[in-house]
Amino acid sequence: MKKCPYCAEEIQAEAIKCKHCQSLINKEVVETKEISKNWLVSRIFGKNKFWGSTTALVIGILILVSGLNNPQGQGSSIYAGLAIIFGSIAYKSAKKRKLKIVQDTSLRKTLEIIALILIVAGTVFQNNLIINWVNDPFPNVIIPIWIIIAYLVVIIKKQK
Ligand SMILES: [Zn+2]
Repeated sequence: MKKCPYCAEEIQAEAIKCKHCQSLINKEVVETKEISKNWLVSRIFGKNKFWGSTTALVIGILILVSGLNNPQGQGSSIYAGLAIIFGSIAYKSAKKRKLKIVQDTSLRKTLEIIALILIVAGTVFQNNLIINWVNDPFPNVIIPIWIIIAYLVVIIKKQK
């Protein structure tokens, strides 16, 4: 049995004409609908291995936008937003190399390392380094360390 794509009534799998609404059933239409539904489900719940870094990227953009919209010199949230954006892209790229979705080129590795160096440099080369680290540890210390650890974990961990 299958569902008629026009009236949603149950019909025989081999039927080429629906007995309920008299529509001509094109086999391909039914199959394509099934495939795209499964594809969407697997993208959201199953085979999408990048939901973590994609979520981080979105959060990074939101933090960056909120920092840019705040005229009260929210330098740390701009930095934190950029750090999360660079970090999640580098992480995703490293994971794609591990999973052999992309080629393991030295250019790609170099760009990942540059992104990480920018993140570290952004927090180390501040004017009021110690004051910022103590007063505002979340964007200036915790986020950079978290990004570096996440990156190292994906590099070291063996992917199935
Ligand atoms: Zn029908």
